[in-house]
Amino acid sequence: MVRTRLSEPDAVVVGAGPNGLAAALTLAREGFKVTVLERNDEPGGGTRTYEDPQVPGLLHDHCSAVHPLGAGSPFLRTLPLGEHGLEWCHAPIAAAHPLDDGTAGVVHRDLAATVAGLGADGQTWDRLVGAAARRFDALGDDLLGPIVGVPRHPLATARAGVPALLPATVTARSFETQAGAALFGGIAAHAVTRLDRPLTTAVGLLLAAAGHVHGWPVARGGSQAIWKAMVSLLEELGSEVVTGHHVGSFADIPRARVALFDTTPTGLAWIVGDHLPERERRRAGRWRYGPAAAKVDFVVRGEVPWSAPDARRAGTLHLGGDFEELAAAEAATVDGVLVERPFTLVSQPHVADPSREVDGLVPIWAYAHVPHGCVEDVAPLIEGQIERFAPGFGERVVARHVTTPAEFEADNPNLVGGDITGGASLPMQLLARPRLSPDPYRTQIPGVWLCSSSTPPGGGVHGMAGYHAARSALKVLTA
Ligand SMILES: Cc1cc2nc3c(=O)[nH]c(=O)nc-3n(C[C@H](O)[C@H](O)[C@H](O)COP(=O)(O)OP(=O)(O)OC[C@H]3O[C@@H](n4cnc5c(N)ncnc54)[C@H](O)[C@@H]3O)c2cc1C
Repeated sequence: MVRTRLSEPDAVVVGAGPNGLAAALTLAREGFKVTVLERNDEPGGGTRTYEDPQVPGLLHDHCSAVHPLGAGSPFLRTLPLGEHGLEWCHAPIAAAHPLDDGTAGVVHRDLAATVAGLGADGQTWDRLVGAAARRFDALGDDLLGPIVGVPRHPLATARAGVPALLPATVTARSFETQAGAALFGGIAAHAVTRLDRPLTTAVGLLLAAAGHVHGWPVARGGSQAIWKAMVSLLEELGSEVVTGHHVGSFADIPRARVALFDTTPTGLAWIVGDHLPERERRRAGRWRYGPAAAKVDFVVRGEVPWSAPDARRAGTLHLGGDFEELAAAEAATVDGVLVERPFTLVSQPHVADPSREVDGLVPIWAYAHVPHGCVEDVAPLIEGQIERFAPGFGERVVARHVTTPAEFEADNPNLVGGDITGGASLPMQLLARPRLSPDPYRTQIPGVWLCSSSTPPGGGVHGMAGYHAARSALKVLTA
């Protein structure tokens, strides 16, 4: 194959997050030369990892830590990322939802073990989540793509889709026990929105089903292993990633036949300026951002002293109390109220990957859902939620590193106001992401696509938005 010169790639991708890299790999695998431009000094976007400033060798994941959709991604699974250093590590228990009575609802990777553990709610879990898990691989492409389109398995997709449309608050009523309802609610709360909104059940079903089929793994050595494997493969295919290159306008992009933007619709509008047709500019102006993440990376001596024994063996923990408390906290957060006990997600990666422990110290990753752009000090609330289910936690903390919503956005302009999902999970923005079309990736500017989590299937490290956008761009490149 004759390679084009570096300055004249076939395609440019703006942003080296997992979706940008997935887009680049999709094109590079078809023989096209791609240049990826990344404003930060390191590629990876949400998959970066940093070394603790006080404890050499101790690694914290900056954003993503746990990867049910990364391991289950129909696109990523086609890539030889294992040959480029990516290894998924599984904790003995995928996820746990501790309750105030010292027990916990538990998701095992094994569906039967989960059903058995949920007692009176086992059959309900099997009917809802088990059914989705049994179809997960067959429907992955349909479920993790544009909602409008011709599904490859129309009947099965329709069957999976009907219960998924419901708000999680309705689905939660199917459960008899606090543990069952809270377990499902904590997973659905990854939608980062009110749980009484339509489609929140879909998020719960998708993540729980992925967990039974592919687990909720961490990447050995931190999430950075994901971007490192993707960049290594990309370079092997003859393409490149240029870091420290902020794209502020079209003038910052080398000439190429197609350009894909791993940015928000608003970010794209800023960059392309007057090139954006008026209709699309108005649509970008109407795009809404959702609640924020506020995060604390803890350095902890030994283990977290969870009251529930199962929680000690879990890779991921959802801290929000019973379903009613959790739903109320999420609703208040959407309304802009910082609650005393915000929904808090915890990852203890060393439980899955022992290489994360350094001289008896372990990294504990914890973030809470807080109002959009929240400026209050959330760290004590996050620590309070952990202390509530693991009394004595604070005494074991050696260091704390806080990231506020504003700091997230300063580091990555895609995280507007601290929103980690690329745009609020409003029903309309889930369906029309950012517009209602079988190809919502292609913009009205000739040769320009959007490929970030602001396009289907939305947030998470799965690369599916990048893959679908690049498939659309390939139609132009190969025409
Ligand atoms: C605190 C937190 C925890 C999370 N936890 C998880 C988790 O456990 N599991 C999971 O699957 N997902 C998680 N996520 C979500 C996940 O990180 C994102 O959904 C995912 O990274 C989105 O990928 P992306 O490629 O669309 O965008 P990003 O990963 O945001 O990447 C976009 C890239 O584009 C670059 N960029 C933007 N504008 C420009 C410009 N003008 N010029 C050049 N470069 C630009 C940015 O610097 C960035 O590198 C988490 C996110 C956060 C913030």
